Amino acid sequence: MSNWKKIEHARRMGLKYDETTSTQELLLTLQTEVSGLLTYQYTQQQETRSGADWEWWLGSDEVGWICLRIQAKRVYDDYRYQMLSHHGAEEGTFQYDTLINGCDPDQARYGFHVFYNGWPEGTFEEGTHWAPPAEWNACPNRKSYKECGHVEPRHYGCAIISAAEVKRLSDGDTGKPVAERFRIQKYLSAAVPWSYALGFPAYTKDVEERWPRRLDRGDWVDRVHGTLEVLTRRGGVRGARDASLHLGEIPIEREQRTFELPTYVEAMRSRTPGLFVPASEDELPAAPQTVIVEQKRPRKRPSKPRH
Ligand SMILES: [Zn+2]
Repeated sequence: MSNWKKIEHARRMGLKYDETTSTQELLLTLQTEVSGLLTYQYTQQQETRSGADWEWWLGSDEVGWICLRIQAKRVYDDYRYQMLSHHGAEEGTFQYDTLINGCDPDQARYGFHVFYNGWPEGTFEEGTHWAPPAEWNACPNRKSYKECGHVEPRHYGCAIISAAEVKRLSDGDTGKPVAERFRIQKYLSAAVPWSYALGFPAYTKDVEERWPRRLDRGDWVDRVHGTLEVLTRRGGVRGARDASLHLGEIPIEREQRTFELPTYVEAMRSRTPGLFVPASEDELPAAPQTVIVEQKRPRKRPSKPRH
């Protein structure tokens, strides 16, 4: 069952289905779908200094590592992301500030929010699960949610948005009541389905190439890097659309990636995935969940026999 359906079902049943549960389920699913994905859990975490629920390290020692820190927020019964009002590590700040401060796009370290969504069809508009007037960004062909064949609204059951964008949208409405400030439509307009972070669906409108040669080498580290870069730097609706249409125009700086992993990540790599028990202060993870996806060195093609 998709994340959307679970949340929708829980809502009908009056059951609590929180961020932790969604994240766990998502990780379990990913493990069955992405080969070489390693997950480490750190349960002793009292409070996260990083503001992240989830941290990803993608890459390899050769090509460098990209870091993705994620804060997960679920929709509440009043169609708000209420917990965006959660306070940050420092006084007068929000949790999203803490998340952003711990990241640096110039070092290929990105802060994102993941929104967990689900509600019955017709909640906002008859015949759809979508929530107008939120703008629909999921179609690289720029078709509406009614016509798009790439994705359907329930794929937003797990949606991503740059944390910088979340801050801009949230801070912009400071002073307004919470009901107005954190309403979902505002954020959905700048979000895309979560899986898009790992590659947008194909653009099929005309012959324009989706991934220009520079990026399209079957190199998923470049692809993920480029997508996170465009979603972060351009943000919003424009960023989401650009990510599908103009990804190759966004320069990625491979040398800015991390080539020396933090102590805790190195410690994790040397151990079996699962529960992680830090052996020292240095080995304290930045988030309760850490995911490592290492790019395997491409195998050299055997040379063709000559005749
Ligand atoms: Zn489409």
